[in-house]
Amino acid sequence: ATPMSIMTATGRGAQAGVLIKDAEALERLAKVDTVIVDKTGTLTEGKPRLSEVAGSAGFEENEILRLAASLEKGSEHPLADAIVSGASARGVETAECRNFQAVTGKGVSGTVESRTVALGNGAFMRDLGVDAASLADRSESLQEEGKTVMIVSVDGTAAGLIAVADPIKSEAKAAVEMLHQSGLRVIMATGDTERTAKAVAAELAIDDVLAGALPEDKRDLVQKLQGEGRKVAMAGDGINDAPALAAADVGIAMGTGADVAVESAGITLLKGDLAGIAKARTLAEATLANIR
Ligand code: ADP
Ligand code: MG
Repeated sequence: ATPMSIMTATGRGAQAGVLIKDAEALERLAKVDTVIVDKTGTLTEGKPRLSEVAGSAGFEENEILRLAASLEKGSEHPLADAIVSGASARGVETAECRNFQAVTGKGVSGTVESRTVALGNGAFMRDLGVDAASLADRSESLQEEGKTVMIVSVDGTAAGLIAVADPIKSEAKAAVEMLHQSGLRVIMATGDTERTAKAVAAELAIDDVLAGALPEDKRDLVQKLQGEGRKVAMAGDGINDAPALAAADVGIAMGTGADVAVESAGITLLKGDLAGIAKARTLAEATLANIR
């Protein structure tokens, strides 16, 4: 494309809240046939709210919330926010936490009042050797509502669960529809569990889902599709998306997300508005068509 037509396209993009890094990003986007989209913070608001707390093995609901919030004070994850503000809204006070550890894509652990507390997904509980079978039914039905469920363990025993609800962005459905109309395949990649991911994907008519994905799994999916001859755009907001954003033919970052995501991307959606993907794609096609 000519420098002039590129400038026009980037100018129009900026007006629509789509920041295009360079001519290459635009040219590559015109050729993309597959879009991988992260769930939390990209398809959803990324501002989850506490929705359910349940205790088991003799633990009270508020005690579960108190222990969980004590841990999550040290985390910057959006799920942590939901738990800490949910506890404060219920007037539940937190305790001090020592030996805090965060495991990307899995959960957090630490010592609260000399008890070992962990909080995270099923994979994290399996890693820790915690048997969460007693909470499985409750957990599954909440996940089928699209909620993210975290298990709380105390000294190695499954003590309760916490569910948060993260609303789907209002423009997400129309954005996926627009991408479909342009003939693109849309795949969700998320660190969340299969059941929750599928509930959200079904609501948005997304074609395929990779759940339980760690950062390197998202990147591997990009590379696998590229190996099959696909041209792949990846849209994400988090640190956990950075490797996939960098590996994709075009990385699309949410301007509302982590700085590293923006740095790894060729295109940034300033307000995190997903419709920007389809708009940018239309611009890219028009720009390339102009010079042919
Ligand atoms: P996504 O890929 O959808 O943006 P993440 O990779 O950030 O999601 O997280 C994946 C899963 O790991 C979460 O759904 C949650 O179960 C667990 N997890 C990650 N961080 C935390 C945390 N701070 N507290 C509790 N659970 C967490
Ligand atoms: Mg995310």
